Amino acid sequence: MTFTMDPPFTEEHQLFRHNLRNYVEKELQPHALEWDEAGIFPREVFRGMAEIGALGINYPESVGGAGGDYWYVVVLAEELVHSRNAGVNMALLVQSQMATPIINEIGTDEQKKEFLAPALAGEKIAALGVSEPDAGSDVANLKTTARRVGDEFVINGAKMWITNGTRADFITLAVRTGGTGYGGVSLLTFPTDVKGFSVSKKLSKVGNLASDTALLFFEDCRVPARYLLGEENAGFYHIMTNFQGERLVAAIGAVAGMQQMVDEALRYGNERSAFGKPLAKFQVWRHKFVEHLTAIEAARWLTYRACDLFNRNEAAVKEISMAKLFAGDLIQKVVYDCQQFHGGMGYVVETPVARAFRDARLLTIGGGTSEIMKEIIAKLVPGF
Ligand SMILES: Cc1cc2nc3c(=O)[nH]c(=O)nc-3n(C[C@H](O)[C@H](O)[C@H](O)COP(=O)(O)OP(=O)(O)OC[C@H]3O[C@@H](n4cnc5c(N)ncnc54)[C@H](O)[C@@H]3O)c2cc1C
Repeated sequence: MTFTMDPPFTEEHQLFRHNLRNYVEKELQPHALEWDEAGIFPREVFRGMAEIGALGINYPESVGGAGGDYWYVVVLAEELVHSRNAGVNMALLVQSQMATPIINEIGTDEQKKEFLAPALAGEKIAALGVSEPDAGSDVANLKTTARRVGDEFVINGAKMWITNGTRADFITLAVRTGGTGYGGVSLLTFPTDVKGFSVSKKLSKVGNLASDTALLFFEDCRVPARYLLGEENAGFYHIMTNFQGERLVAAIGAVAGMQQMVDEALRYGNERSAFGKPLAKFQVWRHKFVEHLTAIEAARWLTYRACDLFNRNEAAVKEISMAKLFAGDLIQKVVYDCQQFHGGMGYVVETPVARAFRDARLLTIGGGTSEIMKEIIAKLVPGF
């Protein structure tokens, strides 16, 4: 019996990696600081990423995708760290891996044509609207209502912390169509040019600065009933399924980001000396980085294990939650030490590790907090 633990990256995956790295280093990385300062990045970036096939890489050709497996998404999330801008990466991953997969899975042909295909082509910007001012972790308690009136839904409520929110052309929107609790939740495709919709506020954040995050209001917004995604009142199940892809790309990006930070710290520590020797030669730091490299390797294989299950459509909620929890918590320690190792330069925002320090903080909060990951895992492990 053979046992192999090599990730199944074929020559085609590596060619995609090569092209993507070139694009990201040439078109995104040089603007990392400028876009953070602007608090936004050009719309054309969505189009550019679509043109190199990155947005639709794992979608069927019928909606403009390339028909690739999930390992292409792994490559995408790994290579995006070379943009040195977590905000841009988050916006692009919301567009292609968080707001849109559910349309591909349960949307009608019309919804795919009107929303999914233009998003994968970079023509329309997509957002995912689940969280609300009074319901983030507690999704089953969301309050935005969609009341059926004839052949329309009338939507009232608010959504909070919505990535791409200030300029999204449509939102994959979670609404309450039924009674209280998870059984009354549905999903809709919501075009933002509808009367009564407004961007109430662009939120000023700690990190991920180039990504716009918004508070949105819905006041008697009318959309056709055919914009319902899947079955009425079955939305909670689909949101939970959709969260799996969101959490997995977060874990993949965290692992790639940690590796990049430690590699860079070691380079820095061999170039800079104190007390007559390179910083990297001080045993205290050697031990610290060896510990981190060991933990990163563990995080990588836990995450790849979850990717493998996900790619094969097998149950992966426990493994994905563990990967998100482990990588999200670990990056807090890794980024702290890498920043400390850079001394004063680690406090200057032109240094990537300084920006990573504030950006990485999101990884225990967004897409489900570390505490929520623990609750999910506890429910899936016998004995609790
Ligand atoms: C930059 C950014 C981008 C985001 N983008 C999006 C987006 O595009 N779309 C979207 O829908 N949402 C988005 N979010 C929202 C995000 O998913 C939520 O912030 C997150 O799920 C946490 O919800 P909350 O903020 O309401 O925290 P709360 O649910 O209020 O939690 C507050 C604290 O209580 C803890 N807590 C809650 N319940 C439990 C429990 N049962 N046991 C133990 N502790 C618990 C939490 O872990 C946390 O520490 C984004 C958030 C940020 C910051």
